[in-house]
Amino acid sequence: MRQFIRLSFTVVILTVLGALPALAEDAAPVPVELSLSFDVLEPGQFGTVIVAGWDVASASGVFDGRPVYFHRAGESLVGLIAASLGIDPNNQFLDVEVTLSSGEALTYHLPVKIGWDAYGSQNITLPSSMGYLLDPALNDAETKLLQGIYSRNTPMRYWDGPLAMPVKDQITSPFGVFRVYNNSLTGRHTGQDIRAAKSTPVYASAPGIVVLAESLDIRGNTVIIDHGWGVFTSYCHFSEILVEPGQSVQTGDLLGMSGNTGRSAGPHLHWELAVAGTWVDPLVWNQPPIP
Ligand SMILES: [Zn+2]
Repeated sequence: MRQFIRLSFTVVILTVLGALPALAEDAAPVPVELSLSFDVLEPGQFGTVIVAGWDVASASGVFDGRPVYFHRAGESLVGLIAASLGIDPNNQFLDVEVTLSSGEALTYHLPVKIGWDAYGSQNITLPSSMGYLLDPALNDAETKLLQGIYSRNTPMRYWDGPLAMPVKDQITSPFGVFRVYNNSLTGRHTGQDIRAAKSTPVYASAPGIVVLAESLDIRGNTVIIDHGWGVFTSYCHFSEILVEPGQSVQTGDLLGMSGNTGRSAGPHLHWELAVAGTWVDPLVWNQPPIP
């Protein structure tokens, strides 16, 4: 697949050059190469797009309806893309515009193969006293708030290497499952639930800047860290928050104490990872296709 893509671009580039009469006959072909870190992108997973070439000045893109930001890493530009949970598996394309130092722009329209949405479902019973937390309007408002944060792009990259577990214990509810609360479907599980008795210390998974530390309706007391390059982690249902917005944190710094606030059927940590504007599985970051 990767070789096929490179071959395709060679053809595209040569075609573009052939249409430019001003180029001298001995001009070197423009050496732009795009490569993807994956053959198939699963819903709730992310990958990298690398634009390589000595004459490349900048690049921008769109995938799954969201912008793709490129950042310089050595000789190349690197962009992160992610397939959202519930993405339409058909007719997905990555659009990239590469600008050369001359100002010339090259555009690419790449098919992206989307994998099977293989997540199961889970039934959860909430006491009637928490029934108001099943109001779709509450959920929609919180989703909108988080998507607004997760769609930001900080050019500085704070993370370096895999994410650390915020609490070292068992996963009690996996990422991606369809959630059925009190017999009605409310959406997808946007993180991993980790077993944590009330007041268990919760630690930062990677370096970054705290961008939210407050009480939310569904997620309860929540801390969100911006790791740069459009990567965020969130830690939810805290009994106590011990950081403030704007604070810089390192891997392993104490963020707060776990709890049962918000829409939670018992004390645990809900841990989220967002990449390129959508939720992805935080456990997958342990084998990241990051340059
Ligand atoms: Zn959860």
